[in-house]
Amino acid sequence: MRIVLVGPPGAGKGTQATLLAKTLSIPHVSTGDLFRANISQGTELGLAAKSIMDSGKLVPDEVTIAMAKDRLEQSDADGGFLLDGFPRNVPQALALDEILEQRGIELDGVLDLEVPEDEVVRRIAGRRICRNEGNHVFHVEYNPPAEEGVCDVCGGELYQRSDDTEESVRVRLEVYHTQTEPIIEYYRKQGLVTTIPALGKVDEVTARAIEALRRNRDSDS
Ligand code: ADP
Ligand code: AMP
Repeated sequence: MRIVLVGPPGAGKGTQATLLAKTLSIPHVSTGDLFRANISQGTELGLAAKSIMDSGKLVPDEVTIAMAKDRLEQSDADGGFLLDGFPRNVPQALALDEILEQRGIELDGVLDLEVPEDEVVRRIAGRRICRNEGNHVFHVEYNPPAEEGVCDVCGGELYQRSDDTEESVRVRLEVYHTQTEPIIEYYRKQGLVTTIPALGKVDEVTARAIEALRRNRDSDS
């Protein structure tokens, strides 16, 4: 299955993508995680992306598209993938179409996670992620680790993302409304979008997501 996950920052895309990727046996491809890995490895790409990410704006398309293309060309993505955080604007959606078209493949669906703004602000404020693995995600109140500051999965140190500040969140929400929401319309016209409410417990949202993807697959066959 080739799926794109969309939703505002803090909607739970990374949390759901990790669980869905395991269930569907496909890789979770998060451009945010790829940028953060570059930052922690001190690469040129990471250096260039860091201040843009901290401000809440989008990293330029040219850089982002090349990085996503590279990742999607790795062999583990041959049998499908779950994209999280890409595409994030219409030019990126057009570029993804081109990448897929060159390989003679198509998206199966776009899963849109719907969460009210006051809830995403609460989710982001309490988010903690693991230094070892960007997709080990916790929340100080909603999904706390057994031991404060320590990742349950691998024992890594938990930290607060440097872009999870009030100012950056305000910018990211604005960017989401102006640049990312139009891709939902773009994909809706192609009949690809399923919107699910992403309020409630993590496993309830996962069950809704799996059900939505199943319905989507059955209606295609
Ligand atoms: P995104 O990838 O969309 O930015 P994350 O998956 O990082 O969002 O989730 C943001 C925060 O919300 C994290 O701290 C996560 O633990 C928490 N979270 C995710 N899903 C839920 C949920 N269903 N209920 C409460 N908190 C959640
Ligand atoms: P995320 O981890 O998805 O919340 O992304 C964190 C930040 O990484 C964003 O605020 C952007 O600065 C950058 N980023 C991630 N994905 C993209 C993308 N597809 N296009 C541009 N910037 C991105």
